[in-house]
Amino acid sequence: MMDPDKYAAATIVSRRDPARDLWIIRIRTEIELPYRPGQYVTLGLQSDGRVIERPYSICSSPLENEIELFIERVPDGELSDPLFELGVGGDLIVRRRTKGLFLRDAPLLDEPHLFVATVTGVAPFVSLLRTLASRARAGDWAPVPVITLQGAARSIELGYAEELEALAQEFDWLTYVPTVSRPWEDPEWRGECGRVEDVVRKYADAAGMRPGYGGVFLCGHPGMISGARAIMHRAGFDNKAIREEQYWPD
Ligand SMILES: Cc1cc2nc3c(=O)[nH]c(=O)nc-3n(C[C@H](O)[C@H](O)[C@H](O)COP(=O)(O)OP(=O)(O)OC[C@H]3O[C@@H](n4cnc5c(N)ncnc54)[C@H](O)[C@@H]3O)c2cc1C
Repeated sequence: MMDPDKYAAATIVSRRDPARDLWIIRIRTEIELPYRPGQYVTLGLQSDGRVIERPYSICSSPLENEIELFIERVPDGELSDPLFELGVGGDLIVRRRTKGLFLRDAPLLDEPHLFVATVTGVAPFVSLLRTLASRARAGDWAPVPVITLQGAARSIELGYAEELEALAQEFDWLTYVPTVSRPWEDPEWRGECGRVEDVVRKYADAAGMRPGYGGVFLCGHPGMISGARAIMHRAGFDNKAIREEQYWPD
């Protein structure tokens, strides 16, 4: 039985599948679930009298009234596999508290921000960018340059490319750069090629980032995080300038 002090019920209200094994859901929860951009919600399913639960970064802005999530199905994954089977109207449970400190320092710095994501790792950045866009439209934010890099094997896996490209068109302070690592499977692709860590230094330099000036935020694949961290260390950035949200262990 689910412990009602710990968990609350949630229902899937929409779903879209940008690519095979990648899907975006919006959920409605029976309780208010306050969060800041960069935080995660813990989703669960009950199975054989126990709860299987995992954290998922929130893509929606706290200004929205539903929680949006971008999820990758892991082959035989204990939670993502059964979660993938749930369509609109599907029931799940959520922990009553959202958590996470990943973007607590953004956008407090009055300096360029470099956001680096692999596929679903873009989720916390989408949440923050939606929030900043709304504040910028209301004249309630003094913008700093934000460079968002997102890597995927194929462009179809980028998930939020259209939305982020539209925001980058609207706002001078935002640069969005998608990159694909298997361009030979994506013949129409005309953008950056290679893994996202391969272009990190190029865009950090282009934004004028240097040791002591600029914050780096890395999210998603552990290999990308260790690779990008090493590149930024070699560029002279120390650990205080680099924040990380790693989705699974190395
Ligand atoms: C703070 C935080 C936020 C997260 N946010 C998201 C998110 O927004 N979207 C999302 O899809 N996932 C996210 N994750 C990962 C998520 O919590 C689960 O680990 C993932 O869904 C796999 O769970 P599972 O039960 O299906 O697989 P498990 O049965 O737990 O794991 C199977 C194996 O796959 C590995 N693994 C886990 N995730 C992946 C992956 N994506 N690709 C390849 N191997 C993997 C694990 O290390 C493990 O060895 C986040 C993780 C953390 C810590």
